[in-house]
Amino acid sequence: MKACKVCHRLVDKVSLETEKKKDAKIVADENVCPACHNPTSKTWQGYVIIQDPKKSRIARKMNIQAQGRFALKVR
Ligand SMILES: [Zn+2]
Repeated sequence: MKACKVCHRLVDKVSLETEKKKDAKIVADENVCPACHNPTSKTWQGYVIIQDPKKSRIARKMNIQAQGRFALKVR
């Protein structure tokens, strides 16, 4: 599993499959973030699951506006 260097979204095979169903044009690639198309990194630490970004204090602190799993630290 990899994490996006920009938005910290965790990228794995399962989430890529889900993204693919939403938009067939997206090419499944763990090296590119499906949300913001920036490069991902193997080096990350800890993760949070954001259920409701509007109600989550962590989401606000990390500037996350979407649901999903996000790495706390990405190098
Ligand atoms: Zn991203």
